Amino acid sequence: MKKTNSNIASERNYQIDKEKCVPVSVYYGEDTFSYKVMKEKLPKDTYKKLMDIINEEKTLDIETANIVAHAMKEWAIAKGATHFAHWFQPMTGMTAEKHDSFADPVGVGEVVEKFSGKQLVQGEPDASSFPSGGIRATFEARGYTAWDISSPAFIRRSGISTTLCIPTAFISYTGEALDKKTPLLRSNKAVSKSAVNMLKLLGNKKVKKVFSTLGPEQEYFLIDMDYFYKRQDLLLGGRTVVGAPPAKGQELEDQYFGSIKERISSYMHDLEEELFKLGIPAKTRHNEVAPSQFEIAPVFEEANLAVDHNQLVMDTIKSVAKKHCLAGLLHEKPFARINGSGKHLNWSLSDDSGNNLLTPGDKPHDNIQFLVFLVAIVSAVYKHADILRASVASYANDHRLGANEAPPAIISVFLGDQLTKILADIEAGVVTKATNDEIIDLGVTSIPVVSKDNTDRNRTSPFAFTGNKFEFRAVGSSQSISFSAAAINTIVAESLDDLTEKIKAKGGNINQAVFDILKAEIKKIKPVLFNGDNYTKEWEAEAAKRGLPNAKTTPVALKALITDKALNLFEKYEVLSKVELKSRYLIHVEKYIKDLEIEVKCLKNICLSQIIPAATAYQKDLTGAINGIKEVLGGKTACTGQQDILKTSLDLVNKIYTATKEILAQVDSVSVIHDEAKKAEMLCSKVKTRMDELREYVDALEEIVDDELWPLPKFWEMLFIS
Ligand code: ADP
Ligand code: MG
Repeated sequence: MKKTNSNIASERNYQIDKEKCVPVSVYYGEDTFSYKVMKEKLPKDTYKKLMDIINEEKTLDIETANIVAHAMKEWAIAKGATHFAHWFQPMTGMTAEKHDSFADPVGVGEVVEKFSGKQLVQGEPDASSFPSGGIRATFEARGYTAWDISSPAFIRRSGISTTLCIPTAFISYTGEALDKKTPLLRSNKAVSKSAVNMLKLLGNKKVKKVFSTLGPEQEYFLIDMDYFYKRQDLLLGGRTVVGAPPAKGQELEDQYFGSIKERISSYMHDLEEELFKLGIPAKTRHNEVAPSQFEIAPVFEEANLAVDHNQLVMDTIKSVAKKHCLAGLLHEKPFARINGSGKHLNWSLSDDSGNNLLTPGDKPHDNIQFLVFLVAIVSAVYKHADILRASVASYANDHRLGANEAPPAIISVFLGDQLTKILADIEAGVVTKATNDEIIDLGVTSIPVVSKDNTDRNRTSPFAFTGNKFEFRAVGSSQSISFSAAAINTIVAESLDDLTEKIKAKGGNINQAVFDILKAEIKKIKPVLFNGDNYTKEWEAEAAKRGLPNAKTTPVALKALITDKALNLFEKYEVLSKVELKSRYLIHVEKYIKDLEIEVKCLKNICLSQIIPAATAYQKDLTGAINGIKEVLGGKTACTGQQDILKTSLDLVNKIYTATKEILAQVDSVSVIHDEAKKAEMLCSKVKTRMDELREYVDALEEIVDDELWPLPKFWEMLFIS
């Protein structure tokens, strides 16, 4: 392959148009129907009503909806929009939209632009084509989209088409959640209620509402588009199923935070410009560890908004890439033996005045609050590590979790030395002394001191406290962060309630009661605390001794969603009913099966229609050469090199052919199993390992077949030529 036309074209592409150099602050959010725009465009009382609705102090009425719809339509049309769409997040993990034109016929040959409050508030896409996990039979497949007022409507441009997108929840006719947004919204309510109760108990009477905040650090790869289109595995499954490692990988550690190449920084500039227009606070960008791997991280936002924005970030990574003749790869492990991509999900809780509940305070009281929330979270992870693991389970993420660059499937918590010591002291009933200047001595003997700046870092931990937030690092790069966030919210809600009950039951002096309860709690939950290297074999053994779950594959991990523990928890907190959760379990199992089967088909096509023909052509060349040499130089002339290569390639082709046939036969034999869970397990245990073996043969062949004949772009080309 070597350099492609678009490699070459891109080298001439970037010229700064000075006329267009506008400060970000001028155009930031210009494509969103933001609070600022609403304030400008809506009558005062309507705006106020809308704010009350957002703060859940009032419910929406149709008159208000009509006024907002009219203003929204005028605003969108002025921006060139011809259509509106309810934008939602079905269980496919991607976003969906159905466009309706504003233009409405009035008589023959005449239209007017119309958009009613009813159209704004509710839509009715045909739900039968979205995964529902058996919640509804097809004949009653009605689903509704319902306007989510808390996330601003936005303008989406694609080519020359412009659409007004309205963020919505997607629910069934009977009110069941069919999407990723609804459970998150419900979980926000749950954690708010539990956190407010706890704060009240601790004497904080002001706080009315608590919300979770999220900051997802998104990793991705960029490769030249021409390479991408030459690989059906990348195009159809997102991952290369074959490919030998490049001579140089990431061992020189020269990529991470390295200077960004021109083609890439131009891309990043365009990407950010698009995101800024959508009011998405993209903040940092840098090269990641692997060649051609990058990261973009936003400033954190309220959870619901952060989830919507992350979906848009993922979409925009791909759409802007096309304009630069690049392909954005969001898969968790696009290149075997090269670092995969994750999404560090930073999570915290904030009160309604914007105080982060995980910031150690400088008043003794704030520190009690901090420690209670900290212990509640650790306790939640201890109890429900299996649910967190399940929340990130997917066929793609299995390739990454537990590889030596990503957290293992064991979910432990990193707190850093100082906090670990504080918890150990509380457990032992001793008072921590100030140890250095950064640590605030609170001067209250019964309350431990907490450093304000905990800069400890442990990159290997799947759930790490990083100063004022937790970072859940097991999330995959292509996954929606919604369910992980909803799961954290829910388990923390339960844990807070549990502590609230216990502290109340203890009675007496509140500080004393808190410490007595924390002491007992810490004793129980400490097996989940681990500050060491999570990538080692020793930790795996140690974690097993501590009884921590270690579900290595998706079919096993997903089972955590249908235990009584999980079903009762999500139902109790009204995040997902048992029916909803069971259906989600099924959707994920089915997705696992489909993802694997798509890869098998790609692998088969690549082996039979690309690899074996290339090898055969090369064998023909070799045979011709050997015969020719002998003819010219005499039959006894040694052709050792050519003959060895010929034999090796013949052996590999036979192995590839046999393995391909075996894999297909395995898939066939599994296809008769009706129990989807069992089917997924069989595919995982029987087919996946065989696919890895097959890959080894193909990769060995790649290293000996004539480079000119090899039909697929190679890793070194894809990862190093930009
Ligand atoms: P790193 O983890 O690489 O050191 P940063 O400290 O810059 O990175 O933070 C990473 C992400 O954490 C950013 O997206 C940031 O907005 C987010 N973050 C910071 N504070 C919070 C918070 N209170 N809640 C949720 N996310 C947060
Ligand atoms: Mg991070």
